Amino acid sequence: MYIRPLKEYKEAGIPKKFDSTLPQGTITLIDQSGRDKHVAPFLKPNLEAFENPERIEMTLQYLEETKSLEGIRTFKTTQAAREEALLVHKPYLVQSVELMSELGGGVLGESAWASENLWSSAMHALGGALLAGELAASDTCRHSFALVRPPGHHATTSSSMGLCFFNNVAITVRKIQAQNGIKKVSILDIDDHFGNGTSEIFYEDPNVQFISIHEYDYINYGIGHYREMGHGRGLGTNINIPLHPESPDSSYKLAMDKIVVPAIERFNPDIIAISAGYDAHFTDPIGEMAVDSKTYWYIASMIERLIGTCKMNGSFWVLEGGYNPLTLGPCIRATLEGLQDKPCPELEDQEERDDEEGVAKLNRRIIKRIMNTIFPFI
Ligand SMILES: [Zn+2]
Repeated sequence: MYIRPLKEYKEAGIPKKFDSTLPQGTITLIDQSGRDKHVAPFLKPNLEAFENPERIEMTLQYLEETKSLEGIRTFKTTQAAREEALLVHKPYLVQSVELMSELGGGVLGESAWASENLWSSAMHALGGALLAGELAASDTCRHSFALVRPPGHHATTSSSMGLCFFNNVAITVRKIQAQNGIKKVSILDIDDHFGNGTSEIFYEDPNVQFISIHEYDYINYGIGHYREMGHGRGLGTNINIPLHPESPDSSYKLAMDKIVVPAIERFNPDIIAISAGYDAHFTDPIGEMAVDSKTYWYIASMIERLIGTCKMNGSFWVLEGGYNPLTLGPCIRATLEGLQDKPCPELEDQEERDDEEGVAKLNRRIIKRIMNTIFPFI
Protein backbone atom coordinates (compact mmCIF):
# COMPACT_ATOMS: atom_id res chain seq x y z
CA MET A 1 0.00 0.00 0.00
CA TYR A 2 1.35 3.37 -1.03
CA ILE A 3 1.25 5.98 1.72
CA ARG A 4 1.72 9.49 0.43
CA PRO A 5 4.67 11.31 2.07
CA LEU A 6 3.61 14.08 4.43
CA LYS A 7 5.66 16.64 2.54
CA GLU A 8 3.22 16.31 -0.37
CA TYR A 9 0.32 17.22 1.88
CA LYS A 10 2.35 20.15 3.15
CA GLU A 11 3.02 21.39 -0.37
CA ALA A 12 -0.71 21.44 -1.02
CA GLY A 13 -1.35 23.36 2.21
CA ILE A 14 -3.14 20.41 3.79
CA PRO A 15 -2.85 20.10 7.56
CA LYS A 16 -0.66 17.25 8.79
CA LYS A 17 -3.07 16.19 11.49
CA PHE A 18 -6.44 16.27 9.82
CA ASP A 19 -8.78 15.99 12.77
CA SER A 20 -7.24 18.73 14.93
CA THR A 21 -7.42 21.58 12.43
CA LEU A 22 -10.69 21.41 10.58
CA PRO A 23 -13.97 21.65 12.46
CA GLN A 24 -16.58 18.98 11.92
CA GLY A 25 -19.21 19.79 9.36
CA THR A 26 -16.95 21.66 7.02
CA ILE A 27 -16.97 21.20 3.28
CA THR A 28 -13.74 20.96 1.37
CA LEU A 29 -13.20 21.64 -2.33
CA ILE A 30 -10.11 20.31 -4.08
CA ASP A 31 -9.39 22.08 -7.32
CA GLN A 32 -7.15 21.24 -10.23
CA SER A 33 -7.12 24.62 -11.98
CA GLY A 34 -3.77 25.35 -13.60
CA ARG A 35 -2.74 21.73 -13.24
CA ASP A 36 -4.70 20.12 -16.04
CA LYS A 37 -3.25 20.87 -19.44
CA HIS A 38 -4.51 17.73 -21.18
CA VAL A 39 -6.37 18.58 -24.38
CA ALA A 40 -7.22 15.87 -26.92
CA PRO A 41 -5.18 16.53 -30.06
CA PHE A 42 -7.97 17.56 -32.42
CA LEU A 43 -8.25 20.38 -34.88
CA LYS A 44 -12.03 20.46 -34.99
CA PRO A 45 -14.73 20.26 -32.34
CA ASN A 46 -16.01 16.82 -31.51
CA LEU A 47 -16.89 14.73 -28.50
CA GLU A 48 -13.41 14.92 -26.98
CA ALA A 49 -13.09 18.65 -27.55
CA PHE A 50 -15.77 19.36 -24.95
CA GLU A 51 -13.67 17.74 -22.22
CA ASN A 52 -11.03 20.42 -21.72
CA PRO A 53 -9.34 22.52 -18.98
CA GLU A 54 -11.93 25.30 -19.32
CA ARG A 55 -14.43 23.09 -17.53
CA ILE A 56 -12.44 23.53 -14.34
CA GLU A 57 -11.25 27.11 -14.93
CA MET A 58 -14.70 28.52 -15.73
CA THR A 59 -16.41 26.62 -12.93
CA LEU A 60 -13.95 27.89 -10.37
CA GLN A 61 -14.27 31.42 -11.70
CA TYR A 62 -18.07 31.21 -11.37
CA LEU A 63 -17.88 29.82 -7.84
CA GLU A 64 -15.50 32.60 -6.80
CA GLU A 65 -17.49 35.40 -8.47
CA THR A 66 -20.75 34.24 -6.87
CA LYS A 67 -19.03 33.88 -3.48
CA SER A 68 -20.15 30.25 -3.41
CA LEU A 69 -16.92 29.17 -1.73
CA GLU A 70 -17.40 31.25 1.41
CA GLY A 71 -16.96 28.97 4.39
CA ILE A 72 -15.60 26.21 2.18
CA ARG A 73 -12.00 25.17 2.62
CA THR A 74 -10.13 24.79 -0.67
CA PHE A 75 -6.96 22.90 -1.56
CA LYS A 76 -5.04 22.41 -4.77
CA THR A 77 -4.55 18.93 -6.17
CA THR A 78 -1.27 17.07 -5.89
CA GLN A 79 -0.33 14.19 -8.17
CA ALA A 80 -1.22 10.65 -7.18
CA ALA A 81 1.40 7.92 -7.32
CA ARG A 82 1.50 5.17 -9.92
CA GLU A 83 1.01 2.57 -7.15
CA GLU A 84 -2.35 4.14 -6.32
CA ALA A 85 -3.63 3.72 -9.89
CA LEU A 86 -2.57 0.07 -9.63
CA LEU A 87 -5.03 -0.49 -6.78
CA VAL A 88 -7.65 -0.96 -9.51
CA HIS A 89 -6.02 -1.00 -12.93
CA LYS A 90 -3.86 -3.56 -14.72
CA PRO A 91 -0.20 -2.53 -14.98
CA TYR A 92 -0.36 -2.42 -18.78
CA LEU A 93 -3.18 0.13 -18.72
CA VAL A 94 -1.22 2.40 -16.38
CA GLN A 95 1.94 1.95 -18.46
CA SER A 96 0.15 2.63 -21.73
CA VAL A 97 -1.24 5.95 -20.43
CA GLU A 98 2.23 6.99 -19.34
CA LEU A 99 3.95 5.81 -22.51
CA MET A 100 1.41 7.40 -24.84
CA SER A 101 1.79 10.70 -23.00
CA GLU A 102 5.57 10.50 -23.38
CA LEU A 103 5.13 9.85 -27.09
CA GLY A 104 3.00 13.00 -27.35
CA GLY A 105 -0.42 11.46 -28.00
CA GLY A 106 -2.38 8.63 -29.58
CA VAL A 107 -5.43 6.42 -29.20
CA LEU A 108 -5.82 4.56 -25.91
CA GLY A 109 -9.34 3.26 -26.40
CA GLU A 110 -12.77 4.14 -27.73
CA SER A 111 -13.09 7.95 -27.39
CA ALA A 112 -9.92 8.00 -25.27
CA TRP A 113 -7.15 10.07 -26.79
CA ALA A 114 -3.83 10.80 -25.13
CA SER A 115 -1.90 14.07 -25.32
CA GLU A 116 1.55 14.87 -24.02
CA ASN A 117 -0.08 16.28 -20.86
CA LEU A 118 -2.45 13.39 -20.21
CA TRP A 119 -0.31 11.62 -17.60
CA SER A 120 0.14 14.68 -15.38
CA SER A 121 -3.53 15.72 -15.72
CA ALA A 122 -4.78 12.21 -14.96
CA MET A 123 -2.45 11.90 -11.97
CA HIS A 124 -3.61 15.27 -10.61
CA ALA A 125 -7.25 14.26 -11.09
CA LEU A 126 -6.63 11.03 -9.22
CA GLY A 127 -4.67 12.86 -6.51
CA GLY A 128 -7.62 15.23 -6.04
CA ALA A 129 -10.10 12.37 -5.78
CA LEU A 130 -7.89 10.54 -3.30
CA LEU A 131 -7.61 13.60 -1.12
CA ALA A 132 -11.38 14.14 -1.23
CA GLY A 133 -11.89 10.53 -0.16
CA GLU A 134 -9.29 10.64 2.58
CA LEU A 135 -10.66 13.88 4.05
CA ALA A 136 -14.19 12.51 4.25
CA ALA A 137 -13.06 9.08 5.47
CA SER A 138 -10.88 10.54 8.22
CA ASP A 139 -13.74 12.64 9.63
CA THR A 140 -11.89 15.82 8.69
CA CYS A 141 -14.86 17.18 6.83
CA ARG A 142 -18.42 16.04 6.31
CA HIS A 143 -18.37 16.46 2.53
CA SER A 144 -15.56 16.98 0.05
CA PHE A 145 -15.69 17.79 -3.65
CA ALA A 146 -12.89 17.11 -6.15
CA LEU A 147 -13.15 19.52 -9.08
CA VAL A 148 -10.91 17.49 -11.34
CA ARG A 149 -10.52 16.10 -14.86
CA PRO A 150 -10.22 13.94 -16.95
CA PRO A 151 -13.21 11.96 -15.68
CA GLY A 152 -12.98 8.31 -14.66
CA HIS A 153 -16.22 6.30 -14.43
CA HIS A 154 -15.98 4.63 -17.87
CA ALA A 155 -12.44 3.29 -17.22
CA THR A 156 -12.49 -0.43 -16.41
CA THR A 157 -9.73 -2.44 -14.79
CA SER A 158 -8.07 -2.89 -18.16
CA SER A 159 -9.49 -0.31 -20.60
CA SER A 160 -9.50 3.44 -21.05
CA MET A 161 -12.62 4.64 -22.83
CA GLY A 162 -15.20 7.40 -23.08
CA LEU A 163 -12.81 10.25 -22.14
CA CYS A 164 -11.78 8.28 -19.01
CA PHE A 165 -8.32 6.84 -18.26
CA PHE A 166 -8.16 6.05 -14.55
CA ASN A 167 -11.27 5.35 -12.51
CA ASN A 168 -10.77 8.06 -9.89
CA VAL A 169 -13.73 7.06 -7.72
CA ALA A 170 -13.02 3.31 -7.76
CA ILE A 171 -9.36 3.79 -6.88
CA THR A 172 -10.29 6.14 -4.04
CA VAL A 173 -12.77 3.61 -2.67
CA ARG A 174 -10.08 0.92 -2.66
CA LYS A 175 -7.60 3.31 -1.03
CA ILE A 176 -9.84 4.38 1.86
CA GLN A 177 -10.88 0.77 2.44
CA ALA A 178 -7.22 -0.20 2.79
CA GLN A 179 -5.98 2.87 4.63
CA ASN A 180 -8.81 4.44 6.60
CA GLY A 181 -10.64 1.43 7.99
CA ILE A 182 -13.67 2.01 5.78
CA LYS A 183 -15.54 -1.22 5.10
CA LYS A 184 -18.76 -0.49 3.24
CA VAL A 185 -19.13 2.16 0.55
CA SER A 186 -22.12 3.25 -1.51
CA ILE A 187 -21.25 4.85 -4.84
CA LEU A 188 -23.95 6.97 -6.48
CA ASP A 189 -23.24 7.80 -10.13
CA ILE A 190 -25.40 10.67 -11.40
CA ASP A 191 -23.58 11.26 -14.70
CA ASP A 192 -25.82 11.19 -17.78
CA HIS A 193 -24.04 8.05 -18.96
CA PHE A 194 -23.84 4.61 -17.38
CA GLY A 195 -20.72 4.22 -15.20
CA ASN A 196 -19.76 0.94 -16.82
CA GLY A 197 -16.20 0.94 -15.46
CA THR A 198 -17.19 1.38 -11.83
CA SER A 199 -20.00 -1.15 -12.20
CA GLU A 200 -17.59 -3.74 -13.60
CA ILE A 201 -14.93 -3.16 -10.95
CA PHE A 202 -17.32 -3.78 -8.04
CA TYR A 203 -19.79 -6.18 -9.69
CA GLU A 204 -19.00 -9.08 -7.36
CA ASP A 205 -18.07 -7.04 -4.31
CA PRO A 206 -20.58 -7.32 -1.44
CA ASN A 207 -19.04 -4.33 0.39
CA VAL A 208 -19.41 -1.77 -2.39
CA GLN A 209 -22.89 -0.78 -3.52
CA PHE A 210 -22.99 0.86 -6.95
CA ILE A 211 -26.09 2.86 -7.92
CA SER A 212 -26.28 4.59 -11.29
CA ILE A 213 -29.00 6.89 -12.63
CA HIS A 214 -28.43 7.27 -16.36
CA GLU A 215 -29.88 7.85 -19.80
CA TYR A 216 -30.83 4.60 -21.47
CA ASP A 217 -31.82 3.58 -24.98
CA TYR A 218 -34.87 1.31 -24.60
CA ILE A 219 -35.04 0.79 -28.35
CA ASN A 220 -31.59 -0.72 -28.86
CA TYR A 221 -30.82 -1.74 -25.26
CA GLY A 222 -27.19 -2.33 -24.18
CA ILE A 223 -25.30 -2.32 -20.88
CA GLY A 224 -26.73 -0.41 -17.94
CA HIS A 225 -30.06 -2.26 -17.78
CA TYR A 226 -31.73 -2.65 -14.39
CA ARG A 227 -31.51 -6.44 -14.57
CA GLU A 228 -27.74 -6.15 -14.09
CA MET A 229 -27.78 -6.52 -10.32
CA GLY A 230 -24.32 -7.79 -9.43
CA HIS A 231 -23.02 -11.32 -9.27
CA GLY A 232 -22.11 -13.96 -6.68
CA ARG A 233 -21.66 -12.37 -3.24
CA GLY A 234 -22.26 -9.01 -4.89
CA LEU A 235 -25.79 -9.87 -6.05
CA GLY A 236 -28.04 -6.93 -5.20
CA THR A 237 -25.21 -4.44 -4.78
CA ASN A 238 -25.38 -3.18 -8.39
CA ILE A 239 -28.45 -1.02 -8.91
CA ASN A 240 -29.01 0.51 -12.32
CA ILE A 241 -31.71 3.13 -12.81
CA PRO A 242 -31.90 3.54 -16.59
CA LEU A 243 -34.20 6.43 -17.50
CA HIS A 244 -35.54 7.53 -20.86
CA PRO A 245 -33.86 10.34 -22.84
CA GLU A 246 -35.24 13.81 -22.01
CA SER A 247 -35.96 12.80 -18.42
CA PRO A 248 -37.09 15.82 -16.36
CA ASP A 249 -36.25 16.86 -12.79
CA SER A 250 -39.30 15.00 -11.44
CA SER A 251 -37.95 11.64 -12.68
CA TYR A 252 -34.63 12.15 -10.90
CA LYS A 253 -36.46 13.14 -7.71
CA LEU A 254 -38.62 10.02 -7.92
CA ALA A 255 -35.55 7.82 -8.52
CA MET A 256 -33.88 9.33 -5.46
CA ASP A 257 -36.95 8.96 -3.22
CA LYS A 258 -38.09 5.50 -4.29
CA ILE A 259 -34.79 3.72 -4.99
CA VAL A 260 -31.56 5.53 -4.09
CA VAL A 261 -32.40 6.65 -0.55
CA PRO A 262 -34.02 3.38 0.62
CA ALA A 263 -31.28 1.29 -1.05
CA ILE A 264 -28.51 3.23 0.70
CA GLU A 265 -30.39 3.08 4.02
CA ARG A 266 -30.67 -0.69 3.71
CA PHE A 267 -27.02 -1.09 2.70
CA ASN A 268 -25.94 1.15 5.59
CA PRO A 269 -22.48 2.14 4.32
CA ASP A 270 -19.68 3.90 6.21
CA ILE A 271 -19.33 6.55 3.52
CA ILE A 272 -20.94 7.65 0.23
CA ALA A 273 -18.96 8.40 -2.94
CA ILE A 274 -20.59 10.39 -5.73
CA SER A 275 -19.57 10.17 -9.37
CA ALA A 276 -20.66 13.73 -9.97
CA GLY A 277 -21.41 14.10 -13.66
CA TYR A 278 -23.47 17.11 -14.74
CA ASP A 279 -24.13 16.16 -18.36
CA ALA A 280 -27.79 15.35 -17.65
CA HIS A 281 -28.32 19.13 -17.63
CA PHE A 282 -30.70 20.24 -20.37
CA THR A 283 -28.05 22.48 -21.98
CA ASP A 284 -25.35 19.83 -22.15
CA PRO A 285 -23.93 19.30 -25.64
CA ILE A 286 -23.47 15.54 -25.13
CA GLY A 287 -26.13 14.30 -22.69
CA GLU A 288 -29.80 14.29 -23.70
CA MET A 289 -31.58 14.56 -20.39
CA ALA A 290 -33.60 17.59 -19.28
CA VAL A 291 -32.72 18.57 -15.72
CA ASP A 292 -31.38 21.82 -14.28
CA SER A 293 -29.44 22.76 -11.15
CA LYS A 294 -32.49 22.14 -8.90
CA THR A 295 -31.97 18.40 -9.38
CA TYR A 296 -28.34 18.61 -8.24
CA TRP A 297 -29.38 20.59 -5.18
CA TYR A 298 -31.99 17.94 -4.39
CA ILE A 299 -29.56 15.05 -4.74
CA ALA A 300 -27.00 16.81 -2.53
CA SER A 301 -29.65 17.57 0.10
CA MET A 302 -30.68 13.93 0.21
CA ILE A 303 -27.06 12.80 0.56
CA GLU A 304 -26.54 15.30 3.39
CA ARG A 305 -29.63 13.93 5.12
CA LEU A 306 -28.51 10.30 4.65
CA ILE A 307 -25.12 11.04 6.21
CA GLY A 308 -26.94 12.16 9.33
CA THR A 309 -29.64 9.49 9.53
CA CYS A 310 -27.26 6.59 8.81
CA LYS A 311 -24.46 8.08 10.96
CA MET A 312 -21.87 7.82 8.19
CA ASN A 313 -18.44 9.43 8.02
CA GLY A 314 -19.47 11.70 5.17
CA SER A 315 -19.49 11.90 1.40
CA PHE A 316 -16.95 12.68 -1.28
CA TRP A 317 -17.81 13.92 -4.75
CA VAL A 318 -15.62 13.57 -7.81
CA LEU A 319 -16.39 15.41 -11.04
CA GLU A 320 -17.18 13.18 -14.02
CA GLY A 321 -18.93 14.58 -17.12
CA GLY A 322 -20.64 17.91 -17.68
CA TYR A 323 -19.58 19.63 -20.87
CA ASN A 324 -21.27 22.99 -20.86
CA PRO A 325 -18.78 25.15 -18.94
CA LEU A 326 -21.45 27.83 -18.48
CA THR A 327 -23.78 25.55 -16.54
CA LEU A 328 -21.24 23.50 -14.58
CA GLY A 329 -20.84 26.49 -12.24
CA PRO A 330 -24.52 26.83 -11.27
CA CYS A 331 -24.88 23.04 -10.96
CA ILE A 332 -21.91 22.70 -8.63
CA ARG A 333 -23.01 25.76 -6.66
CA ALA A 334 -26.41 24.11 -6.18
CA THR A 335 -24.64 20.92 -5.08
CA LEU A 336 -22.53 22.74 -2.49
CA GLU A 337 -25.58 24.54 -1.11
CA GLY A 338 -27.50 21.27 -0.83
CA LEU A 339 -24.60 19.74 1.06
CA GLN A 340 -24.65 22.71 3.45
CA ASP A 341 -28.36 22.13 4.10
CA LYS A 342 -29.26 25.48 2.55
CA PRO A 343 -32.52 26.04 0.63
CA CYS A 344 -32.48 25.55 -3.13
CA PRO A 345 -30.96 28.66 -4.70
CA GLU A 346 -32.66 30.35 -7.64
CA LEU A 347 -30.03 30.23 -10.36
CA GLU A 348 -29.71 31.49 -13.90
CA ASP A 349 -30.02 28.08 -15.54
CA GLN A 350 -33.45 27.38 -14.04
CA GLU A 351 -35.89 28.38 -16.72
CA GLU A 352 -39.35 27.26 -17.82
CA ARG A 353 -39.12 24.34 -20.21
CA ASP A 354 -41.58 22.16 -22.10
CA ASP A 355 -43.62 19.80 -20.00
CA GLU A 356 -42.05 16.34 -20.17
CA GLU A 357 -45.05 14.49 -18.72
CA GLY A 358 -44.87 11.79 -21.41
CA VAL A 359 -41.29 10.87 -20.46
CA ALA A 360 -42.05 11.24 -16.75
CA LYS A 361 -44.90 8.74 -17.11
CA LEU A 362 -42.62 6.21 -18.85
CA ASN A 363 -40.06 6.66 -16.11
CA ARG A 364 -42.63 6.13 -13.35
CA ARG A 365 -43.33 2.71 -14.85
CA ILE A 366 -39.62 1.89 -15.09
CA ILE A 367 -38.94 2.97 -11.51
CA LYS A 368 -41.76 0.77 -10.25
CA ARG A 369 -40.36 -2.18 -12.20
CA ILE A 370 -36.86 -1.57 -10.81
CA MET A 371 -38.23 -1.49 -7.25
CA ASN A 372 -39.94 -4.85 -7.79
CA THR A 373 -36.78 -6.31 -9.32
CA ILE A 374 -34.11 -5.04 -6.97
CA PHE A 375 -35.60 -4.86 -3.49
CA PRO A 376 -36.02 -8.62 -2.97
CA PHE A 377 -32.24 -8.91 -3.38
CA ILE A 378 -31.06 -6.28 -0.94
ZN1 LIG B 1 -21.27 11.42 -19.13
